[in-house]
Amino acid sequence: MPAGKTHLRIELITLPLWAALFYLFVDASWLSIVLFGGAYLFSSLLLSPDLDLRHNAARRRWGLLGFVWLPYTKIFKHRGVSHSLLLGTLTRLGYLALLAVIAALALSYFNVWTISVTQLPWTKLDLWLAGILLAGLWLPNILHALVDRLDSLIPWRRRRYRYR
Ligand SMILES: [Zn+2]
Repeated sequence: MPAGKTHLRIELITLPLWAALFYLFVDASWLSIVLFGGAYLFSSLLLSPDLDLRHNAARRRWGLLGFVWLPYTKIFKHRGVSHSLLLGTLTRLGYLALLAVIAALALSYFNVWTISVTQLPWTKLDLWLAGILLAGLWLPNILHALVDRLDSLIPWRRRRYRYR
């Protein structure tokens, strides 16, 4: 398995290429490119598929909040669904959404902050914006999973696991 640094390097080096393709074929507005790039960086740095490992660079980047990923490592075994091309990102976004709901319910239970359904962001979700953000979040995770798969094809690297 390539180290976290290798994944991050590949994802950051290819970002200008993805941004250029996005500009040429998807949306030539600078705001959209910034949103796409921001989501891509957020995903590269903080939503790595290797969050399924107890020790990994992405979890360290969460700082004091890193502990919230501990249950995720228990639920998802390394390189299982968390590394799926289609479902991997969804597991992490769903997990974060679940944590947000639990936090919001706890805050409203203790009367710190009361939420009403109409205040929730998805009641007026812009589909185009959501698509741009999802593309930015998904792409580095897909790259990660593909690099892991390519790496496991190299016979002498198959048994070398570096938990980073
Ligand atoms: Zn991985």
